[in-house]
Amino acid sequence: MANLLVLGTQWGDEGKGKVVDLLTPAFPVVARYQGGHNAGHTVYVQGRKIVLHLIPSGILHAETMCIIGNGVVVSPEAFFRELADLRALGVAVGPARLAVSKNAHLIMPYHPLVEKISEEGRGERKIGTTCRGIGPAYEDKAARTGLRVGDLLEPSVRQDKIEANVAAKNRLFAAYGVPGLEARPILDEYARYAEMIAPFVRDVALLLDERMRRGQNILFEGAQGVLLDLDHGTFPYVTSSSATAGGVCTGLGLGPRHVNAILGITKAYTTRVGGGPFPTELGDEVGRALAKRGDEFGATTGRPRRCGWFDAVAVRYACLINGIDRLALTKPDVLGDQAEVKLCTAYRLGSETLKSFPNEPWILEKVSPVYRTFRGWGNSLPAARTPDDLPAAFKDYLRAVEDLVETRVAIVSTGVARRETVLLETELAGLVDVAKVRSGLAP
Ligand code: GDP
Repeated sequence: MANLLVLGTQWGDEGKGKVVDLLTPAFPVVARYQGGHNAGHTVYVQGRKIVLHLIPSGILHAETMCIIGNGVVVSPEAFFRELADLRALGVAVGPARLAVSKNAHLIMPYHPLVEKISEEGRGERKIGTTCRGIGPAYEDKAARTGLRVGDLLEPSVRQDKIEANVAAKNRLFAAYGVPGLEARPILDEYARYAEMIAPFVRDVALLLDERMRRGQNILFEGAQGVLLDLDHGTFPYVTSSSATAGGVCTGLGLGPRHVNAILGITKAYTTRVGGGPFPTELGDEVGRALAKRGDEFGATTGRPRRCGWFDAVAVRYACLINGIDRLALTKPDVLGDQAEVKLCTAYRLGSETLKSFPNEPWILEKVSPVYRTFRGWGNSLPAARTPDDLPAAFKDYLRAVEDLVETRVAIVSTGVARRETVLLETELAGLVDVAKVRSGLAP
């Protein structure tokens, strides 16, 4: 039996949604373990664009059980909005195939307000968060004051906790001259959510155990990316959860032995949303061309993403701290118009050459990338179906990426559609049932 973790190796937006969607036929269960509705996974199915924020991308496959783990923070409003959107698209989704952990923390109406105050207080050093209350919900979890999904189902616990939290937040708002909130409407709103969410609430650790005992393989779906991990990313320009492999165990309630293999998703160039250091950022025409062709605008916020060349120093670090087995390389087609493509092999810091990634922003801000230049590969990639169809110039680039990050590539994604994918079957065979994945590539 092989459970597979799929995670982003850069600053998020690597194309995890597409890869999870195409691997899902090989996994009866897909589980998310961190983040909130700040994630945005865009999937194209039969030409239709579907954006998922909170619900795992596996939901688009009718047979798949999807799980939101305790490590995720859940906005009930966002959850039910997404359910309604999916149903409007004809996706059958209900408690029989969607579960939410009773231990997941809730995003409450005061959390976005707290986040706004905190971001504004940072002035120029803004993190660039989505201001959807994700960070403050995790803060309340660490402070042991937050509400969990299971608390909603106990009316007296729900009431006590909401009243205590609203009172505490109102003291904070008063200090900042921000109008306070009334507890009553929040109590009423969350009483309604309690009824609506009850059928979805499960003990996720037990549910996963039961599925694994039945021999079902689990796909763990990461959100954001390794360089945004709270501990291992470019702190403080990070997200508030553990986007690395370790987050799977704490975010779902299972032991590390159940994470059998790890597939890192890596974009053929680099993007970053929000603030923070970005050594290979291109502030020129090339950067703008990549953003335009790659449609690099946030799926959740519409914000433009910063673009730059592929950073092998950063991705090698991601491979190292997660023990990534194989990579899926996405969006090389976006580089198709470039006569030359650059790849960052090391950083220069004064007279020193750094080959390992310093995650301190004040060091990263000072490094300059050392580039190797490759011939461009033109625009034939989306038509490629087998490794032999890949142009020689692209294969040179691919080999260099593999050598520099010391990890083999198992999937090349060459466009938004499922069929625009090249499976490198010998590399993929150890991770998934390749025949099942291939069967899903058609639409
Ligand atoms: P995620 O959060 O990692 O799932 O990434 P996003 O959904 O935010 O961004 C990835 C975007 O790239 C989506 O719009 C995908 O449809 C698109 N995409 C994924 N793979 C490819 C690819 O190989 N080529 C192109 N051109 N677009 C892709």
